[in-house]
Amino acid sequence: MLVSATDMLQKAEAGHYAVGAFNLNNLEWTTSLLRAAEETQSPIILQVSKGAGAHMGGFKCNALMVAEMLKSQHMTVPVALHLDHGTYEGCLAALDAGFSSIMYDGSQEADFETNLKNTAELVKLAHAQGVSIEAEVGGIGGTEDGVTSRGECADPEECKRIADLGVDFLACGIGNIHGVYPDDWEGLQFDVLAAIKEAVGHLPLVLHGGSGIPDDQIKKAIQNGVSKINVNTECQIAFADATKAHFASGEVDKPKGFDPRKCLKPGFDAVCDKAKEKIALFGSEGKGWN
Ligand SMILES: [Zn+2]
Repeated sequence: MLVSATDMLQKAEAGHYAVGAFNLNNLEWTTSLLRAAEETQSPIILQVSKGAGAHMGGFKCNALMVAEMLKSQHMTVPVALHLDHGTYEGCLAALDAGFSSIMYDGSQEADFETNLKNTAELVKLAHAQGVSIEAEVGGIGGTEDGVTSRGECADPEECKRIADLGVDFLACGIGNIHGVYPDDWEGLQFDVLAAIKEAVGHLPLVLHGGSGIPDDQIKKAIQNGVSKINVNTECQIAFADATKAHFASGEVDKPKGFDPRKCLKPGFDAVCDKAKEKIALFGSEGKGWN
C-alpha cells in the first residue's frame, strides 16, 4: 500500500539521514527503483512530473501502476507516490488519482501571497485524504534554453510563513539547480540553509536538483536538515550511458537481441544501481520501517 511521505521524512529528519525521491520515466524505470529500495531495505519516494505522468498514461494510470507493482514485487518497505512540481490544478488531479503525496510549486505564481493562499487550501485538501504535501519557497534555478542560473536562495521569513500553514516538508532554494551543474557553480549556500532551518525547526527540508552535487556537500546538507533529496538527471544519464554501451557492443545484432526487454535491460539495471548508490549516500539503507 502506498503511504504518505510524512512519517518517513520525520524519521529521516530526526535520524539525520535523507530519503531519495526518484522521478519515474516509464514502467521499467519504476520496477528498477522499487527493486533498489527493496534490496537496500530503504523507504523510497517515487515522484512524477506533469510531463512524465502524461507520458505514462496520466496520473490515474500512474497511481494504479505503482499500487499494483507494490503487490507484484512483494514490497516490504514504505513507498510514497509523489507529484513533483505540481500546479494548483495538477495537485487536485493527483489527489483525485490516488497519489499519496503532492508538491505544490507556488514559486511559479505571480506573487508570494498567491503561493501562501493556494498552499493553505491544498494543505487542508491533502490532509483530509491522509496525503502529505510539499510546498516551495523561491524558485529552483536550472538550465532552460541554454541559460543556466546561479540557483536562487529562499527567504527564511517566507519559509517560516509557509511552514506555519502545516505543510509536511518544504523545498527551498539554497543555490541548487535542476539539470547538470555548470563548471562555475558556486556550491550550496550553507548559511542560507542554516537560517531556514532555524526559522522552520524540525520541518523536513527538500533539496531539488540533487544530481551532480558533490557527495561532501550532500552529506553536509543532510546533517543540516535536508531530509528529502530529488534525483532524476543522474539516473537518466546512467540509463543513457548503459544503453549506448549495449548498442555499441553488437549484442543487439545477435538472435533476438532486438527484443526491447533485452536491449533496454542494461539501462534499467543501471538505474537500479544508481538508485542504490544514492540510497547508500543518503544513509536511508536499512531504514525501511525504523
Ligand atoms: Zn525540482
